[in-house]
Amino acid sequence: MKCPSCHADNKDTASNCKKCGSPMTAEPLYAPTKEWHLKTLSVIYGILIVVFFFLNWLLKPYMRHIPPDVTPWLHNGDGIHK
Ligand SMILES: [Zn+2]
Repeated sequence: MKCPSCHADNKDTASNCKKCGSPMTAEPLYAPTKEWHLKTLSVIYGILIVVFFFLNWLLKPYMRHIPPDVTPWLHNGDGIHK
């Protein structure tokens, strides 16, 4: 195991470097913050919403038409016998 600050070889069990004395637990190089998570999630959800509407538009010609008998409230009286 190498020291994170001076790269000297140390025992794996060492808690401090034998050469420079700095702690052997390396700091994480990148620790995302809450803001980063919110930003990333909003980007992901934004993409999903765009993809949803795009697929909706793309597949519109292939969608089955619902018979008017099933949804009379959508076709206010036309074609329906009252
Ligand atoms: Zn060191």
